[in-house]
Amino acid sequence: MGELSRFWRESEHRYRMVANRCGNCERVYFPPRDVCPICHRDSIGKMKPFTLSGKGEIESFTVVHDAPPAFTRQRPYVLAIIKLDEGPSITGQIVDSDPGEVEIGGRVHSVFRKISQEGKSGIIEYGYKFVLD
Ligand SMILES: [Zn+2]
Repeated sequence: MGELSRFWRESEHRYRMVANRCGNCERVYFPPRDVCPICHRDSIGKMKPFTLSGKGEIESFTVVHDAPPAFTRQRPYVLAIIKLDEGPSITGQIVDSDPGEVEIGGRVHSVFRKISQEGKSGIIEYGYKFVLD
């Protein structure tokens, strides 16, 4: 076990949804920003890492029928803008559901999935996707 499970744990850690939060106004940014666009210089040195829960609500979505080559096996797929509970909106793919089940206002949570693989023994890329609650 040891080695393999540790590998997966560390990989997941590396791809967690890490945002940051302004220590001045408490707004959360994803992707992280160096400076808060509201507080400007008052936020310098106060931007702290913040791990998002991955939970949110579907703001809008589109069913994509024309997928790039790496996605051809899963088309059509749903691409949504998700308003996370912590504030930021994020674009992500909705997986494990029929496009007909997806609706605006629907609750989702993030999952960690394979995004693409280059060649037969190539590099596998992982990242977050979303599933309906
Ligand atoms: Zn701020």
